[in-house]
Amino acid sequence: MAVDDVATDTRVLSGWSRTNRVRGEVLSTPDVEVIARAVSRAADDAADGRGGGVIARGLGRSYNESGQNRAGLTVDMTPLNRIHRIDGDELVADVDAGVSLDALMRAALPLGLWLPVLPGTRQVTVGGAIAHDIHGKSHHSTGSFGDQVVDLDLLLADGSVRTLAPGGTPDDPGGELYWATVAGLGLTGIVLRARLRLQRTETAYFLADGVVTGDVDETVSLHRDGWGEAADYSAGWFDAVSRGRGLGRGYFTRGRLATLDELPAKLRRSPLAFDAPRLFTVPDIFPSGLGNRLTFGLMSAGYARTGSDFTGKVLNITDFLHPLDFMGEWNRFYGRRGFLQYQFVVPPSQLDDFAPLLEAVAASPHASFVNVLKMFGEGNRAPLSFPMPGMTATFDFAIRRGLDRLIADLDRRVLDMGGRLYTAKDSCLSAHSFRLMYPRVDEWIAVRRSVDPAGVFVSDMAKRLDLV
Ligand SMILES: Cc1cc2nc3c(=O)[nH]c(=O)nc-3n(C[C@H](O)[C@H](O)[C@H](O)COP(=O)(O)OP(=O)(O)OC[C@H]3O[C@@H](n4cnc5c(N)ncnc54)[C@H](O)[C@@H]3O)c2cc1C
Repeated sequence: MAVDDVATDTRVLSGWSRTNRVRGEVLSTPDVEVIARAVSRAADDAADGRGGGVIARGLGRSYNESGQNRAGLTVDMTPLNRIHRIDGDELVADVDAGVSLDALMRAALPLGLWLPVLPGTRQVTVGGAIAHDIHGKSHHSTGSFGDQVVDLDLLLADGSVRTLAPGGTPDDPGGELYWATVAGLGLTGIVLRARLRLQRTETAYFLADGVVTGDVDETVSLHRDGWGEAADYSAGWFDAVSRGRGLGRGYFTRGRLATLDELPAKLRRSPLAFDAPRLFTVPDIFPSGLGNRLTFGLMSAGYARTGSDFTGKVLNITDFLHPLDFMGEWNRFYGRRGFLQYQFVVPPSQLDDFAPLLEAVAASPHASFVNVLKMFGEGNRAPLSFPMPGMTATFDFAIRRGLDRLIADLDRRVLDMGGRLYTAKDSCLSAHSFRLMYPRVDEWIAVRRSVDPAGVFVSDMAKRLDLV
């Protein structure tokens, strides 16, 4: 197949967790006109009741099938990757949607400029960041990605391009389409370009505190007492494997961007250097059963011992924000069967139920080593945005027999606590549970239908969650 004279190719697509693997038709071009014609063709087909629709894809860092479309076309947005302008006076970056946060940071940092919202990896595109309304360690102080967009250009199913902004624009006076696009899973249209808010920084380093907790009660009370919220950035690791007192112990860090005079003399010579190397790429040689209770138990015990209490320590970007980015393709550690990341948020009133939830995980045959815990601040207007006030936690489980039973149990607990799962990570929630977790979904569907009544924008995830 070809769109104009640009050939599409068939690729194996999957989420970052290596699950939901499909063969799909992919269009890869930096040419906005060609992308628009591909959408028009999908719209013509949809009007005739044919075709499989279209979906945008960024760097494929979502853990699920939100950026793929088995029955139709997937548009690889990464070639559309120009940084048009970085304005240090207005504190705004004007970029194509396929620009990665890594590329943008590398361009902005030498100018003393910083992106307020950074997730646990920089290898995500601006379009992907908007479509899941991603959050970072700074959520309680900056909100999520959709809170830091000045405006964006959205290609709609009818081929028009609208400019949208959080407070509304002539194209979208009430801002409803903007907020339906934020966390809108690529289903309102294709983001072509965005202007993003920046902040100033004197250095590329953090001034951080660390604290070790001995058990789950200490972990919960640390977070209930607002330890993390006292700084701009905070999050940490917890033990989800050990049985007994070690379960729920953790190692948490908080901090803020360091000022020039806080750096040691050696670093002051090049305070804005991007100190974040990729040291190696993990080879695809690991068997699927490697991540188990024994190996993850040993790793958890070892990691818990490396943590220590400290205050006012200078840490670089990788150490403080992106420890996983020093390895390429680390998802290969889980072998070909892949893994599942489970991220949920529950209201602050439910913190006491974290211990029984952890005990259920520890009592199961499934083990998780990469576990992150953080307190969110206020959520935003987007009906499908994940963050809300409360505690978010993640587990990574290798795919093995019986995992579906543990996940069903966790889903029930999260629902009972009034919580929800994160759409960038979830790969098996039912449409029914999704509706219970996101009660404003009908409001979102109404906005989507107003701009895409025929369902031109479709992903495999949208079908699973009954959003088309
Ligand atoms: C190691 C790791 C750590 C992570 N840490 C965090 C974290 O701390 N916080 C967090 O919030 N997330 C985190 N994530 C998840 C990641 O930030 C999101 O999944 C993000 O959406 C991935 O962006 P992407 O460019 O890879 O998009 P993809 O995964 O390719 O696509 C995701 C969605 O974006 C849509 N999309 C992509 N481009 C466009 C476009 N131009 N227009 C419209 N829709 C588009 C797709 O249709 C799809 O619905 C992490 C992921 C990894 C692998």
